[in-house]
Amino acid sequence: MLSFFMEKVIIVGSGCAGLTAAIYAARANLSPLVLEGRQPGGQLSTTTLVENYPGFPEGIDGPELILNMHKQAETFGARFTYAEVTDFDGGSKHVRIKADDEWLDTQALIIASGASARYLGLENEEKLIGHGLTSCATCDGAFYKNVPVCVVGGGDSAAEESLFLTRFASKVYLIHRRDKMRASVIMQERVFANKKIEPIWNTVVTKYIPDEKGEMRAVRLRNVETNEERELDVACVFVAIGHDPNTKAYRGKLDMDADGYLIAKNLVESKYPGVFIAGDVADRVYKQAVTAAGMGCAAAMEAERYLSKLEPHS
Ligand code: NAP
Repeated sequence: MLSFFMEKVIIVGSGCAGLTAAIYAARANLSPLVLEGRQPGGQLSTTTLVENYPGFPEGIDGPELILNMHKQAETFGARFTYAEVTDFDGGSKHVRIKADDEWLDTQALIIASGASARYLGLENEEKLIGHGLTSCATCDGAFYKNVPVCVVGGGDSAAEESLFLTRFASKVYLIHRRDKMRASVIMQERVFANKKIEPIWNTVVTKYIPDEKGEMRAVRLRNVETNEERELDVACVFVAIGHDPNTKAYRGKLDMDADGYLIAKNLVESKYPGVFIAGDVADRVYKQAVTAAGMGCAAAMEAERYLSKLEPHS
């Protein structure tokens, strides 16, 4: 149930940025309302071991890290509800946000709606998602035991997913459109050291080939250097080619770049007073859990400052 009252702080998104903002805002006694979107917990909830979040020398599983942040925010009084944000109005007296067809008024808003996995845009994509096509190895990897699978991409996500999938699959083909990975050196070293992973360089997937039951059976590949085409048998395609920011609701209303990333000034400020921005929704460079958390913290502190100026005696 959504509140009909004027909220002090609404936070859109419950990934690392949104939850950190919720911890800070709740600890400042602002009782923030967190709107969890289509992917509660954000990208960390679908990842495996996080080795670079400070404070966990042995690493920590992404879902556990997120659950801890969620609990921490709740402990201080953050409230959570599931709602999809579809529209925004920052120009009237109060900031308004449309969540599940209902307009909510709030004094301050923190947009931390993150980014969603990108797919290749090939024929039958929608139909095949969940039938041998996915962007989440952690969610679906265990379904593909002792069968060949492929991962598409050359970044840290592709490296991480490939390594994770070697626990289950008989073979992991890593299909990358160039001949060099973009992933960090440590991840590349692990990929190249793993005998179950076979990189296929300079190659793109041009077609998904389902079986008669509509499950993925193979992919058609094209070498971008030679234009040579071939078919590769795989039971599942794991797409790890990056993310698109979740900013549809703010199109034409907040400043964004050509790819839809929100443009923040002074790290977390939008063009509207009381509207702040945090995390991957505005970060096309670093996209790390720790940078998202840092922006979430800054956004909540700015929201607190903004509110205290509105109500100097409260
Ligand atoms: P990314 O770094 O943007 O890499 C995306 C990869 O997909 C690139 O190799 C890119 O190729 C490829 N690609 C993009 N569009 C494509 C298309 N249409 N067809 C085929 N290939 C395509 O994304 P990411 O791997 O999701 O990582 C995002 C951020 O999260 C990064 O900052 C990364 O460091 C971080 N991350 C860190 C960890 C970790 O530290 N353990 C784990 C996961 C993610 P090109 O290289 O040719 O551009």
